[in-house]
Amino acid sequence: MEQLKLNNGQMIPQLGLGVFKVEDPEELKRSVAAALQNGYRHFDTATIYHNESLLGEALAESDVKREELFITSKVWNNNTTYDDTINAFHESLKQLKTDYLDLYLIHWPSEGYNEKWRAMESLYNDGLIKAIGVSNFEQPHLEKLLATAKVKPAVDQLETHPYFQQKELHAYLKDLDIAHEAWGPLGQGKSNVLQDPVLVKIAEAHNKSVAQVILRWHLQRDIIVIPKSVHPERIAQNIDVFDFNLTAEEMALIATIDQKQRGSGDPNDEAFLKSSMSRV
Ligand code: NAD
Repeated sequence: MEQLKLNNGQMIPQLGLGVFKVEDPEELKRSVAAALQNGYRHFDTATIYHNESLLGEALAESDVKREELFITSKVWNNNTTYDDTINAFHESLKQLKTDYLDLYLIHWPSEGYNEKWRAMESLYNDGLIKAIGVSNFEQPHLEKLLATAKVKPAVDQLETHPYFQQKELHAYLKDLDIAHEAWGPLGQGKSNVLQDPVLVKIAEAHNKSVAQVILRWHLQRDIIVIPKSVHPERIAQNIDVFDFNLTAEEMALIATIDQKQRGSGDPNDEAFLKSSMSRV
């Protein structure tokens, strides 16, 4: 597994398993077992996914040692203060049955994120989190955060796929040495990106699936990916992307199919952010 070095020196496996919407206990256990068996060591959850406890159980039942795992969770938008964030973090640790997190993210730039960040810095300085970061933060959110931050975010997790490539934000993050992590890396199975003719042609040339080509494209952009699947054969397929390379021409061709089209929530939509704060 390729690892990337974050701006604080911590290593992150560049590919992990996302578990958004996996709430059935048996399905989650089966997915995690298949992932571990195929070499995944990085798992991405969030409090709002309501499966931290199941993920914690599945990982605790495996033979893989905690120090070999990379576990990410995210503080939800209903927490707005320093104390809320500290409490939410400790609840996540309890649910995940661990005494530290590898990565903890502010899920969305909803109200109170500078205060949330102050709490995350304190948890980070206490050694309870190896790296702290943000999610769904665009340039103005990052500028506002950096105005009071003492620790620079290590990661920004953003919706990113071939139809929403985030080229400008990607360049901005690169300048700041903040790692770009893609959520919805395969278009969440909602867009028709998996049937895109340009990608189909490239996949045929490499004898790989379109999903594998997309994941390879992310990796070659130095992006961290956390594709979700609950099917063992797809879980195996999604990590089988380290034995081929896309050419510079293929990368350039994929750059042309960007539609700059989001599939899900918009971090610039204040009404969406506000309503998310009452969801638990
Ligand atoms: P994704 O892009 O990973 O798409 C998953 C879907 O793609 C699956 O449900 C399936 O339909 C399809 N798929 C997966 N592997 C396939 C394969 N090999 N061939 C064909 N189809 C395949 O979408 P996602 O789950 O939304 O995103 C990945 C992870 O990112 C989540 O599980 C979660 O951990 C994280 N996430 C974070 C945020 C955030 O706001 N930070 C938002 C959404 C998701």
